[in-house]
Amino acid sequence: MIEKKGLGVSHGIMTAKAVVFRHSEISVPHELAEDTEREKENFQRAVRSVLEDIASYKPKSDDERSMIAVHRSMVEDPEFTALVTENIEKKRYNALWAVEAAAGLYIGLLEKSGSEYFRERAQDLRDIERHLLMELSGKELYPKLSEPSILVADYLLPSEMFELDTSMILGICLDRGGKTSHVAILARSLEIPAVLGLGDISESVKNGDTVAIDGKEGVAVINPDKAAADRFRARRNAEARQEKALMKGAELPSVTTDGREIHLLCNIEGIEALNSVLLSGAEGIGLFRTEFLALHKDIFSNDELQGRIYSEVARIMGRLGPVTFRTYDLGGDKIAEELRTEEENPILGWRAVRLCMARKDIFRTQLISILRASALSPSVRIMFPMISGSEELQEVLSFLDEVKAECREKGIAFDENMKIGTMIEVPSAAITADIIADKVDFMSIGTNDLIQYTIAVDRGNDRISYLYRPLHPAVLRLLKHVVDSGESKGIPVSMCGEMAGEADYLPVLIGLGFRELSMSAHSILEVRNRVRSLSYESCRKLADKLLSLPEASSVENELREFNGKT
Ligand code: PEP
Ligand code: MG
Repeated sequence: MIEKKGLGVSHGIMTAKAVVFRHSEISVPHELAEDTEREKENFQRAVRSVLEDIASYKPKSDDERSMIAVHRSMVEDPEFTALVTENIEKKRYNALWAVEAAAGLYIGLLEKSGSEYFRERAQDLRDIERHLLMELSGKELYPKLSEPSILVADYLLPSEMFELDTSMILGICLDRGGKTSHVAILARSLEIPAVLGLGDISESVKNGDTVAIDGKEGVAVINPDKAAADRFRARRNAEARQEKALMKGAELPSVTTDGREIHLLCNIEGIEALNSVLLSGAEGIGLFRTEFLALHKDIFSNDELQGRIYSEVARIMGRLGPVTFRTYDLGGDKIAEELRTEEENPILGWRAVRLCMARKDIFRTQLISILRASALSPSVRIMFPMISGSEELQEVLSFLDEVKAECREKGIAFDENMKIGTMIEVPSAAITADIIADKVDFMSIGTNDLIQYTIAVDRGNDRISYLYRPLHPAVLRLLKHVVDSGESKGIPVSMCGEMAGEADYLPVLIGLGFRELSMSAHSILEVRNRVRSLSYESCRKLADKLLSLPEASSVENELREFNGKT
């Protein structure tokens, strides 16, 4: 039995067999082949197998259909296969080396061509090379989950989650990843227990080992002995009892003991979560991360599909309260295949509105779809991510005006009074929130990014997660400034970062003046329960005290003491 400690990022206790998936680079042995005939056969077998995989893909669009056709023609390309065969026969390279050398030559030529089209084909050829090397080295592209299992991996991109059958994933253990990384957010939204930042768990676990995880405590145990298995079972039963007790509060109002209403809304990543939102008794959708749709559905050019999804959400959720569509926050770790770029600093790079304003075709389609949904419910709101200041916001607002004018011309109905908001998640926007507030109807603070950029600490990097301190005095001051700016300009300020869903931070947030918090559905019950135990007056005094403290640790200690007492 081996016990490992990591970051508990998605609650739940689970024990099951493990399926291991590593992205490890395939090491290509640069050794001469002993038997060239066998190497040629290996190559031909790999080609057949890749072609079978390609044939089994089910294209969901014309673009996917043409991509599959390109891949097939590349694998079968007579010049490419002749070069690999020549590398084996004449240079006596083994099959892996022969593929690497042939693909490397073609990729170099395509990349040097200066044409966008050929550079994209170089990317296709890289995929084919990886696929062939995987086949030749006996590795899987993605694990096949034939039975419900715990997925153990080195890391996982949100887009990769969609390659897997998530209904078969009972739990997730990763070597890397932080609490507010998007894979963690997705795990919470899919209600899959997850422990991240476990160091080398993907090397310690073998396929078929039993793994027990506690997604709250951040513990993973490999092949638990009887005592550990009993401990996990007891904790699981206790958690189930606690959840049942919380469910009883689903219909109670979210109000402090001295009568201040705190509106609790949900963050969603797709329509699958709507049921949990309804069960939680949330008062609307504070954040719909629409980009997650684009990671697993061919959606960019399909305004009909987008329109259908947005309208469905507006129709079902509009009765509860606001339904906030955040425009695509693509880029960073949320990479749609079509928009893949090589960047040194993707988190500071071409993402969110920056990307959308450069790809107005994609942006326009999305804006029209959101506008269409606004005709169905006055609750629909639009919100822009990663706004860095007033000028950038103005450009985006002007583009929205252009698209509205187009809609009017074409007779597309929309709500002329649809509320427009912006995320405040870049420090420059937080500092100038008083200026930004003049241009919008509401602001919503994205603490996941705001903390990352304020403290310069990558939110997805577990190695420096000790620096990721939501209670850092700099963060508290920014939060206070944004809330005060909203109040002085008469517009609401909410919070939709993960900090909003942690019951322990609630006294600080209420004390700073937040009246609307948006979180994943499974946090709502616990947070509502906590709201009902707090008085606004004592939270306000607490926030004043915390704002006067010099260090994150002193703020954390003070809050811990407050939470212990109430
Ligand atoms: C945030 O940054 O806090 C936020 C809500 O957006 P995301 O987590 O999608 O970056
Ligand atoms: Mg963000």
